[in-house]
Amino acid sequence: MSTEPFIICDNLVKIYKIANLEVFALQGLDLVVAPGELMGIVGASGSGKSTLMNILGGLDRPSAGRVWVDNNDLLKMSDAALNRYRRSKVGFVWQQATRNLIPYLSAVENVQLPMTLAGNSRGAKKRATDLLEMVGLGPRSHHGLSQLSGGEQQRVAIAVSLANSPILLLADEPTGEVDSQTALAIYQTLQTLNRELGVTILIVSHDTGIARHVQRVVAIRDGKLASETVRQTGQSNNGAEGAHDEDTHVEDVFEEMVVLDSAGRLQIPKDYLARFNIQGRAKLEMTEDGILIVPAGGQTEEVIRETRAGELIPTAKRRNVRDMLRLGRGKKTS
Ligand code: ADP
Ligand code: MG
Repeated sequence: MSTEPFIICDNLVKIYKIANLEVFALQGLDLVVAPGELMGIVGASGSGKSTLMNILGGLDRPSAGRVWVDNNDLLKMSDAALNRYRRSKVGFVWQQATRNLIPYLSAVENVQLPMTLAGNSRGAKKRATDLLEMVGLGPRSHHGLSQLSGGEQQRVAIAVSLANSPILLLADEPTGEVDSQTALAIYQTLQTLNRELGVTILIVSHDTGIARHVQRVVAIRDGKLASETVRQTGQSNNGAEGAHDEDTHVEDVFEEMVVLDSAGRLQIPKDYLARFNIQGRAKLEMTEDGILIVPAGGQTEEVIRETRAGELIPTAKRRNVRDMLRLGRGKKTS
């Protein structure tokens, strides 16, 4: 893809100040998203996922760094311009579907409402009906909200978020409160909308299983991008007419890569560090295939011997260590 990026976050920092306490929610986050991407964002609770979504959606401003969406420099925007940006270009879906819904209105009335409020009532009913069709609720469009299940309500909320034709859809844990079957329906709905409308979609989840439903997943750790998983769809299934069901691919290959930030820093998973007893400082060794990270001062072989009981690795074969410390080359098949 040689198209211009749709989203660029460059060294994004967000500090929350509560009384005299400073919370670093984002600590120099770099992220590039292509137009029309369907992307997942995972990370532990408190890692900064919602903070990132709020900044991208114009609900909050970063403390430092830069952020562009669709060629808009969100930092340079006035409050009024940021409000306009949020209302006209961004759709939000929250964990609680009801946050975007009016309980006493029917599904179709809920989807029409944002259009009416924005002064776009002409054609609103038709668009609302079309959107509900697209999220698979065509036959239920006149149902009251209480007549719909939690998953169906979430799909109404997705239709509501798209009412005013945003170019960016931000879904913050949309499957956080539903069972896996319902989550699947929600993922499939988002896939359909991404495909049919071309809207760029970012889905936050604490479930790494989301990798099966999107093209790319980035993992945030401590307010920074730590790793990225790209799905390589099995060739044989690709392009098959009608069989566009991303969830049935059995031969998808997931390639997880660590992410280097603009300053060349990377985050190494804690369990990797623990396994090789790497703390505080480490040595870098150049090998033919890449860079090896070795505990400082320690005997590499001994550490490895301890961690891999029964398997001795002679010095000459130290290169094999890369199979264990698969920085940048880890390959998982599901
Ligand atoms: P996540 O969505 O990944 O769970 P958040 O982005 O909500 O993480 O939070 C990141 C960090 O910022 C957490 O430590 C959280 O407590 C803190 N935080 C988030 N929002 C606020 C706020 N409005 N005021 C103060 N601290 C906040
Ligand atoms: Mg959150």
